[in-house]
Order: sequence, then C-alpha cells, then structure tokens
Amino acid sequence: PLLQAPRRIKALDQDVVNKIAAGEIIVAPMHALKELMENAVDAGSTSIEVLVKDGGLKLLQITDNGHGIDRDDMSILCERFTTSKLKAFKDLESIGTYGFRGEALASISHIAHLKVTTKTAGSSCAWQAHYADGRLVPAKPGQSAEPRPCAGRGGTQITVEDLFYNIPTRRRAFRSASEEYAKILDVVGRYAVHCTGVAFSIKKHGDAGSGISVQANASTVDRIRQIHGSAVGNELIDFNIEDKKWGFTASGWTSNANYHVKRTMILLFINHRSVESSAIKKAIEQTYSIFLPKGGHPFVYLSLEVEPNRVDVNVHPTKREVHFLNEDEVIELVCNEIKTKLAKVDTSRTFLAQS
Ligand code: ADP
Ligand code: MG
Repeated sequence: PLLQAPRRIKALDQDVVNKIAAGEIIVAPMHALKELMENAVDAGSTSIEVLVKDGGLKLLQITDNGHGIDRDDMSILCERFTTSKLKAFKDLESIGTYGFRGEALASISHIAHLKVTTKTAGSSCAWQAHYADGRLVPAKPGQSAEPRPCAGRGGTQITVEDLFYNIPTRRRAFRSASEEYAKILDVVGRYAVHCTGVAFSIKKHGDAGSGISVQANASTVDRIRQIHGSAVGNELIDFNIEDKKWGFTASGWTSNANYHVKRTMILLFINHRSVESSAIKKAIEQTYSIFLPKGGHPFVYLSLEVEPNRVDVNVHPTKREVHFLNEDEVIELVCNEIKTKLAKVDTSRTFLAQS
C-alpha cells in the first residue's frame, strides 16, 4: 500500500491554546461564578450581588463592595498569571491551592465578553474596561481600548456575557438553563453560609423574587435556615475542634438525630474554598448511620482549616475533589467529635423521654 507523507507538525496559534485552556478550566457557568465570587470575597467585600440570565450563559454579573482594582492595573488584569495575591515563590504553596494563579479573569476573557467596572477608595471616579483574549478592547469598534472614567460606587462589578460564544460545541452541550442556574444557586448558597459578615443576593434576570438573600449580620444558623429551610435550621448542633499534631482546625454545624433527608448534604470548605471530598462524605455517613433510620442522611456544614502546605496543590480547578496529608487521621478526629456531640443530644433526649 502507498503510504502518505506525514503532515508536518506545527505549533498551535497562541489564541487557540488560550481558548482550549480556558475551556478546560471553565466547563460550566458555575465555574466562572465560583471564581468571581472568591475574588469578591478576597477583596474584602461585605456585599455580593449576583445577576444571572439564561443559566449564566447569556449573563453573569457580580457586583461587590470590596477594595476595587487600581486603574493602573486594569491593562494587565486579564493577562494570564497576573495576580495581586502571590508575591514570592514561597507563597505559591499556600495560595495556589486550587489551581488558579491569576488565571480566572484571563480564562473568562478568552471565552466570553467581559466588562469590568471598578472603583477604589482612593479614586474619585470608577473606571470601566472591556476585555477579549486577555487584552483591553474598545467597547465599540473605533473607540479607544483604554479604561474610561465613569460614575460608580466603591467596589467591582464584573459582567460576563455570552459565555462560550466562540466554542459552539460547548455551548450546545448545555441542555437547560435552569439546570445551570440550579448549580449556580448551589455554589452561591454554599458561600452564603460560609462567609459570615458578607451579604449575598442572587437574582434571575427579570425575576422579581430573589433566589437567595442573606444579610451581612446574619449568623451561620440564620444563613442555613434561610437557604436550606427551618426544618434543618432548628435541628443543628455546633462543633469545634483543633489539633496541633495534624495541624488543623474544624468547625461547623451538623444536624442532630431528629433530622434526616434522602441524600447527605455536605457544605465543605477547606481553607475557605468550597470543595468536595468523597472520603469525608463517606466517613460522615458512617458516623450518622448509628443515629439515623435506615436510608436517612444528615446535613453538615464543615469548615476545615489545614496548614496550606498539607493540601494537595495538583488539583484541577474543575475537580472540586481535594486531598490533604493525614486525611484519615483528620477525618477520624472530626467524625469522633461529631459522634460525641450527637450522642450527648441523643442521651439527653432519651433521658427526658424516660423521666
Ligand atoms: P487570582 O484571584 O488568582 O489572583 P484572578 O484572575 O481571579 O486571579 O484575578 C486577578 C487579580 O484581579 C486578582 O489578584 C485581584 O488583584 C484582581 N481582582 C479580581 N477580581 C477582583 C475583585 N472583585 N475585587 C478586587 N480585585 C479583584
Ligand atoms: Mg481569583
């Protein structure tokens, strides 16, 4: 048979490479939203408002009242690996935990229309800029790409429009906007429980009723009650442990034996980032199995702080599954604490019933 001459190997265009990389980091609107929300929290905001249209595919807008972005930083804001959160190499282990090292805004600019309006306390006006493919671009053809002064309150508003507009196959893969909105609601709800001192609201465009709304001064229990209902809000016990040997602290609220649902609900934060851990889930379900009827599952909000150098840094941003050193020992201590607390409530109830 006649062999064809091989096609020559060529380097892909840089823009193509960036687009592929961005599409791997941001698979669904919720991934973009999570990054934007973490940025808003990192900026010291006490109020975060989210507006969503078509499950985030048409519009994702997040408005915060944080410290804002310096006008002089706006030109490099969306370049890859530009960050204000990492100064020395030694910081890398602690800051780069979830894979993003100044990549979120850059990624979004490669796969969506991105607009940033921001005002710092020191600036007399707000500044607005549009971005595409990592760079400043004019709002309209023929205009200057430079940030324009405008009116605005202190803080930052990020507007992401037409997510995946340039990746039609990805765009077509989304079956329903309401499915994507549900995922967005889930992420916002998680942060709204965790970030005490911060007010959260999320709205669907054109929808008067707010999806989630919590006040800045709401307690953790209030937050859980507002988002997950009073059935669970009235049946929570708190726990708090610290362990020097394994270098962690754990705290949170967990449902007592009076409450159970069909599926375990775990709000897990490791070092203030929302993550998943099947090992923790399994251990918690095991712990509860002696307290709950068969098929019944708990609600658990668990905030774990582990020394940053103990967390696996090689986790892909879309894989929310996280691992850390001495996981088994840490999980056992956390579950033992929960078990002790549950047993206490359980015996006092039995005691009350008997007397
Ligand atoms: P990273 O968060 O890893 O630094 P990002 O691409 O998410 O990377 O953001 C780049 C930089 O832009 C941040 O380091 C921060 O300085 C700035 N920034 C992004 N969002 C906000 C915001 N909402 N408020 C203030 N600064 C922000
Ligand atoms: Mg970020």
